[in-house]
Amino acid sequence: MASGDVELAIIGISQDGGVPQAGCDCVNCESAILDPRQKLHPVSCAIRGSDGSLHLIEATRDLAEQLSIASRALGMGVTSVPDTISLTHAHLGHIDGIGQFGKESMGLRNLPLYASQSVTDVLYTREAVSPFMINVIEPGVAFSPSESCGFTFTMVPVPHRDEFSDTHAILVEGPRSNLLFLPDHDEWSQTLEFHGCVGIKQWLASMGVDFALLDGTFWDKGELIGRDIREVPHPSISETLEMIGDREDGDPEVNFIHINHTNPVLDRESIQYKDVISRGWSIGMQGTSISL
Ligand SMILES: [Zn+2]
Ligand SMILES: [Zn+2]
Repeated sequence: MASGDVELAIIGISQDGGVPQAGCDCVNCESAILDPRQKLHPVSCAIRGSDGSLHLIEATRDLAEQLSIASRALGMGVTSVPDTISLTHAHLGHIDGIGQFGKESMGLRNLPLYASQSVTDVLYTREAVSPFMINVIEPGVAFSPSESCGFTFTMVPVPHRDEFSDTHAILVEGPRSNLLFLPDHDEWSQTLEFHGCVGIKQWLASMGVDFALLDGTFWDKGELIGRDIREVPHPSISETLEMIGDREDGDPEVNFIHINHTNPVLDRESIQYKDVISRGWSIGMQGTSISL
């Protein structure tokens, strides 16, 4: 890792509720309670720009631990304060760390925050904007979160249960590679139709994506026992695997993220985890970094 590179760290891979999830005694939650090293933070990424600046995507309740994971993964010391923050949507798990930038904790002022109009409207409604310099971002238009960070973000609209705000994936374009961060969407058919594409690989190729962090909330639709899975629509990993098949030459690297505590891929000994790996794809890992 040479200084001057743009590098992205995965600092959380779980769905909004984290692992362990409150009030749950499933095997995955149980093992994370017994062994805190297995605790998983809600999904989030941090990027070190070519000028050494630090840029956060999402603000979860585990912000303190995640900033320290980011600093270590990106070789930036013990912990760092981010220079900018960007948000994909306003579901609570993606924004419930936002208060920690204000006077209750870090006491920041004028921290640049980038999000869509409707996400920033939610922040104003919750009176959560005082630590930030709010920048409303037009979907589909690339922007640099800071002047000489050496990469751009583009907010890519995706259909998702948009009761509070709209939802975006974020395309990160570095000097050498592009990465798509897509933690939440409802269905591949809707997302692909919205972008006029017939297949996942075609859509990723249209954005020049080399690395894709894709919504892998559930393994399949039978997973949420005692709850209606239609309340929380996401494409399952098995559906995505059916659509993308095996990894072939020239395909991007895919890491599934936003994993629910019920998802069997969290167990590396499971047939589901081994299925993902044998097809050439991966499950995201907290604390790993990708050079862009
Ligand atoms: Zn989510
Ligand atoms: Zn659980």
